Amino acid sequence: MAIRSKFILALLINIAIAVGIVGVVAHELLMQRFDAIALARSARNFRGDIAAYWLTYGSWEDGQKVESLHHFIQRRDASLIRRWTGTDPNGSAIQGTAFDKGDAVDALAITPWSGPRDAGTGPAGQHDLPPGQFGSDLPSDVPPPAVRSPDGPRGTPPFIFILFDHDGHVLNPPNQSGRIVPHEERVHAIPIDIHGKIVAYALPQGRINLSGADRSYIEAMWQSLAIGVAAASAIGIALGLFFGNRMSRALRQLTAAVQNIRDGRLVQTVSINSNDEVGVLARAFNEMSEELALSHAKLKEQNRTIGEQAERLRDLATRDGLTQLNNRRYFDEAAERMFALARRHGRPLAIAVGDLDHFKNINDSFSHTIGDAVLRQIAELMQRELRANDLVARYGGEEFIFAFAETDLAAAVDCCERLRRAIEGFDWTTIQPGLAVTISIGTSDDVRAGSLDRMVSAADRQLYRAKAEGRNRVCSALVPGKSAKSEAAQ
Ligand code: GH3
Ligand code: MG
Ligand code: MG
Repeated sequence: MAIRSKFILALLINIAIAVGIVGVVAHELLMQRFDAIALARSARNFRGDIAAYWLTYGSWEDGQKVESLHHFIQRRDASLIRRWTGTDPNGSAIQGTAFDKGDAVDALAITPWSGPRDAGTGPAGQHDLPPGQFGSDLPSDVPPPAVRSPDGPRGTPPFIFILFDHDGHVLNPPNQSGRIVPHEERVHAIPIDIHGKIVAYALPQGRINLSGADRSYIEAMWQSLAIGVAAASAIGIALGLFFGNRMSRALRQLTAAVQNIRDGRLVQTVSINSNDEVGVLARAFNEMSEELALSHAKLKEQNRTIGEQAERLRDLATRDGLTQLNNRRYFDEAAERMFALARRHGRPLAIAVGDLDHFKNINDSFSHTIGDAVLRQIAELMQRELRANDLVARYGGEEFIFAFAETDLAAAVDCCERLRRAIEGFDWTTIQPGLAVTISIGTSDDVRAGSLDRMVSAADRQLYRAKAEGRNRVCSALVPGKSAKSEAAQ
């Protein structure tokens, strides 16, 4: 899977987890806060009702003899809500609803009204509401009855409370009276005090009863939260894709550069200018590529030098330094192969051995340097006169050896004779006035002799013969007892 796909997958999983966590946490916090607010409000109202009941009848027991708490609360709610009409300070007719707090009136709603006045005057004037009742000396922090709608009945309370006394005896609701609230539950109870004295405790029961308005409110909150989370996710995905693409583009560039190096294109430069890890990697890669290319160039140069040195060594090992002809070692190896081939395939092969005549005299008469110059010139003449397939080597001193592949004795004699004539005919005075050089050569083509050494020995014998018969001639076993010396050499 490509890194880009992995990155997008990780991003989506991340966002899904974040949305899940935010959803659960937000829901928990919201509902806890909602419960706490509803409980506080509900407890405040319940406490107001209980305080009013207590102050109206003096005690719980006395109150119970007259009416139940439930009845009292219903009556309190209904009797305190008043409709009234009156006039505002400008004299215009108005109507409204209000509830009585004993000696004061709180307006709940005021609207212009043109109908007949039926009950009392408005807040700006005198009112005809009944005087304070239902515990008119309530403590200042005890709220008036909780009227959710000025015109409507009291709705289902968010919480149902159990009322119990100091000993835990349930006072209300009546169907639980006589039950004792366990100690571990009492710690959650809310104390109800009147003028600083705790008269009872209220314990909330069960979960919150959500009203329609509460549900609408929560739904609206959830919708807002969902829109917020969706917007955050969309921005997160867009940013993630942007940065993911950037990163994967950089990695693709690096990967391509690495592949190029693998394919031999060592000088690679990736242009990633970020300061993050990928940027650091790219810069390190560029430096490495440069160093690699430099080292590679150096290595190639060293390889070339080593190759040249090896070539020189090979030359030194196989060539004669003075004449640049093959040396004896090279001849022995190459001629052995030629001999083996000739033996195996029954093909002709001739060997010849040549020796300069009276070469010692040349050294003695002219100098060793002239002798060397003669040897070099002889090598040049040999290479010029012999064919490409003929093998020639300096065998030692002023001796030379030849191998003629696919050549019978007569053809070999012709070759040697041509060479002998070339040496004899060369103008040696260009090297040294008075200088003359000749060569004696003996040849053999007796492959059946059994070995290269034996063939060389046979050629040597012919050379010896050539020397013995007067030098400057080619001898072979072609015509026994007769010299192969050409007419020109006579
Ligand atoms: P022959 O005709 O019987 O072969 O007589 P020769 O003088 O050629 O033979 P000899 O073996 O007596 O002398 C060979 C000489 O070749 C002796 C040696 O000083 C000389 N020589 C051998 N190698 C070199 C070399 O590399 N350079 C020079 N200048 N002379 C060499
Ligand atoms: Mg010799
Ligand atoms: Mg000689």
